[in-house]
Amino acid sequence: MDDAVFDQQQADPIFLSMISRSPPNVVETVAGAVKALLANDASAALSHLTAGRAVLPRGHPGHRLLSTFQVTVDAVDRLRSLGVDATFEQIWNKPAPLRTQRKGPREVSVSRATQGAILDEIRRQLASSAGATACPSCGAMLPPANAVAPLVSHDGTLGHLRMYLDMSAILVLLRQDPGAAEVDAEGADQIATQLVKQAGIHLPVSTCGACETIALAHPLDQERIARFYADAEYHASSAVNATDRTAGSAESFPLAYTKSLFPCWLLDRLGLGTGHRVFDFGCGEGTMLRHAETAGASVAGLDLDRERVSYARRVLGLSDVTATLDDLQAKPQGSFDLVMTYHTLEHVTHLDRIFSSLCRLVTQGGHVAVAVPNGENAIRKDANSPPVYPMLGGDHILALTPAGLGNRLTKAEFEVVEVCRSPSDLRDINFGPEKRDPLSGMPVWSSKLGDCIVIARKR
Ligand SMILES: [Zn+2]
Repeated sequence: MDDAVFDQQQADPIFLSMISRSPPNVVETVAGAVKALLANDASAALSHLTAGRAVLPRGHPGHRLLSTFQVTVDAVDRLRSLGVDATFEQIWNKPAPLRTQRKGPREVSVSRATQGAILDEIRRQLASSAGATACPSCGAMLPPANAVAPLVSHDGTLGHLRMYLDMSAILVLLRQDPGAAEVDAEGADQIATQLVKQAGIHLPVSTCGACETIALAHPLDQERIARFYADAEYHASSAVNATDRTAGSAESFPLAYTKSLFPCWLLDRLGLGTGHRVFDFGCGEGTMLRHAETAGASVAGLDLDRERVSYARRVLGLSDVTATLDDLQAKPQGSFDLVMTYHTLEHVTHLDRIFSSLCRLVTQGGHVAVAVPNGENAIRKDANSPPVYPMLGGDHILALTPAGLGNRLTKAEFEVVEVCRSPSDLRDINFGPEKRDPLSGMPVWSSKLGDCIVIARKR
């Protein structure tokens, strides 16, 4: 490796770690690709990576590293061709997750009386909406609550309260307080989030007797959910601006890296690649599909986030990625060998409808692979029991269990072929408490989550 490459490594601890821990043939390939990229020659970089993959035996974990690089290099190349000056360095020296970069609230001083009034208002709203409610997944009436979920999600991400509460009433209360008269909607959200956390306000949770989904026993306003997910600001919490939205930095780096591992692991597991057709539901900016494409598959996907779909099309060159649920119905029955969905179904309502649409897309003998936070971990007996991930609340509308998913798939004429629970069954993509890929040293995201993955074959 020459000095230019070495300097690049020095500039980036993640990259340095990757190089130092990887097998020599992977190191050589990646170093060659980096050199080419620093010389602004992306096509040479891609041919280094392709050559590297060719010499590794099938199933070698080095493939996922090369695939990660390939997708990233390709994104840089495409961004440059679109006139966006993205550099390799920008991708690997990824920005910290935006939620820690957000501006703090403007200097406000909320009186104790206003704080109390806000908490009263929140409790009043929650009480007035309590009562019998339908399962957001199948529509059956939910039984009485038997557990709780925090109103503010595990990571306390700003803005989730909007889904559960009428925030305008809280903004009015703040504006009547001389110390907080200037506060804007975002500030109100931030203040209310802090108060809810301090007061430990929780939502009741029920397990649906009909479909085994664990859901909030609190009627969620469909219109508000739709607005919440369509809201640009919500997406801004996990996506950086368009210039930096490359394969490696569209989301927090560990998540983007895990999104590279998952499709590589899955395609390898199912022996899929050249000539196969892969669909990703909730494909976001298209990272997973780009990996499938790199492995030779023809790909299509859907995500309701138009901005990310636009990125997938424009930057990753994925032409068959769309943004409305009707597009699921428009696709011919049995048109995919694999339908995958990664950390998406816990965010949807009307799961029954979506689930049958997804199952319809799978060809006979083809597979569906669902990865979600494992709902077996979602239940907390009471507000004082220790927090576990994943929780309901925040932006998670449902908690899905391996058993519940298995039953749905069996009813839809699928045969469950594999159920993996993290971390014990998922050593290839979840690395336990270390939270790093032992091969590359890359931080991964799923380690902490307690995922489950259910893979089923269509009979
Ligand atoms: Zn249900």
